[in-house]
Amino acid sequence: MDAPRITVDHTRCVGNAQCVTLAPAVFRHNEAVQSEVVDPSAAPLELILKAARFCPTSAIRVESASGAVLFPAS
Ligand code: SF4
Repeated sequence: MDAPRITVDHTRCVGNAQCVTLAPAVFRHNEAVQSEVVDPSAAPLELILKAARFCPTSAIRVESASGAVLFPAS
């Protein structure tokens, strides 16, 4: 499967590192202590979706490679 498209909304990210803890090969903190995506293919999709669900501010959006929205659910 092609890597999902993952984006982090920096107007929402509060830097609590939940996503970095759950999927450290995918997310890391930048200098502003906000999450950024380093490798969207570095973890199983289920783990990425879990990280998105656990984000306290719903800052993470996940789409399939073809652009279907996987999180948040509509
Ligand atoms: S879990 Fe959400 S708020 Fe926390 S660092 Fe990741 S994107 Fe930011």
